[in-house]
Amino acid sequence: MGDLELAFDSLLIVSLFATTTSFCGFKRSNTTYTIDEYTVGGVADKVFIYCNTYTLDFVLDEITKKTVSSLFKEYYKSFAPNVGSIERREFGFGDFEKKVSFRHCSFADSAALRRYLYDNAPTFVNYSISLYKDPAARPMENKGWLGAELVFDLDAGDLHLECQKRHGHAWVCTNCMDMVKAETMKLIEDFLIPDFGFSGNELSVNFSGNRGYHVHADKKALYQLTQKERRAITEYIAGINVHIETFFPTIGQKGKPLIGPKPADYGWGGRLARAMVKTLNGGTEPLQSLGIDQRTAKKLVANKADFIFGITTGNWDKIPIPKKAEFWEGVMKRMAISQGDSIDKNVTNDIYHLIRMPDTLHGDSGLVGKSVSISELASFDPLVKAIAFRKGSLSVVARTTEALVINNETYGPYNGEVVELPVYAALYLLLKRTATLSK
Ligand SMILES: [Zn+2]
Repeated sequence: MGDLELAFDSLLIVSLFATTTSFCGFKRSNTTYTIDEYTVGGVADKVFIYCNTYTLDFVLDEITKKTVSSLFKEYYKSFAPNVGSIERREFGFGDFEKKVSFRHCSFADSAALRRYLYDNAPTFVNYSISLYKDPAARPMENKGWLGAELVFDLDAGDLHLECQKRHGHAWVCTNCMDMVKAETMKLIEDFLIPDFGFSGNELSVNFSGNRGYHVHADKKALYQLTQKERRAITEYIAGINVHIETFFPTIGQKGKPLIGPKPADYGWGGRLARAMVKTLNGGTEPLQSLGIDQRTAKKLVANKADFIFGITTGNWDKIPIPKKAEFWEGVMKRMAISQGDSIDKNVTNDIYHLIRMPDTLHGDSGLVGKSVSISELASFDPLVKAIAFRKGSLSVVARTTEALVINNETYGPYNGEVVELPVYAALYLLLKRTATLSK
């Protein structure tokens, strides 16, 4: 067997010599991670690398591909695309190796798109957030850009969660799902509605199909925003270039009382004041999660009426915290929204980006990128509601270091045993490259 080059999590390249028994470790950005337990072996003409942190297998066999494709085809048989301005959008499709393997496609109407999806059963269906005069023209500058939606892509992978150190970025656990949903609700309720003035019916949300959510803000007045203006919005919600002195005018000035924002104020100042009042009302634990030591937290809670009165009148001196500027900047960071911070990952800034079309299937999970109403988001469980294939079962050889919780049932962990699973659970493990079809 020759050398394999494996792409993992888009940033990570692993070079593996499959015939050797030693492993070179792998690099992500500038940090080297070491896989400390692994086996390398051939199973059904494929190479697996099993380790306690990651299971890496990037080569789906032909039988699995055919099985997945026929399931996807079945899904698209009765699919009704619900895409605004369909004839003005560029489409791109992915396969088992790449999320976008080709682009510059366009469709005259929903019927043409549905027919294409049924005929081809693509692994990923992506569409442009931009509208064009001629979406199929190439290169990009020949398309005739007409404007773009404002889209936010929230991904559990950008949240740097503790659980990800255990299970890696390819896997998604219930904590990942819960945390990214909380981040999405924070974006909508704390930023898009109060600060940007969106109404609920101008915002639409869909599960990404794998480990996050997409929020689309569809307001004609925003269509012409330039990339620079879009970047200013992402920086604002990320708390970048927000200067604390604008709402704490006397911060750092010795001998002067600390005048600060009030809860009714606009923007970051008001948000900070409201959050502080809410946190004071929540007891010592939320205060400690902001970095306040236990003794001070207890003191604040015991005298919270006085402190809350201070904040509502703009007097922040009552809160006895040393290094106030650093402290409040730290709190702001905790309140900010985490999106992909690298330029090529940040969907909001990139008007040429293709994003998963809502309600299509995700080729890394077999789940639907399901549209969710804002009112249902709090109770939305993607690993129940986004299941596409509820009928039948498949027999697989599964190897997982984590249990899969799907449709309110727990499956695994598995250590190479043959298991008969509901199609949705088997499909999920197959597409996560943690199972193979049983012979
Ligand atoms: Zn997790």
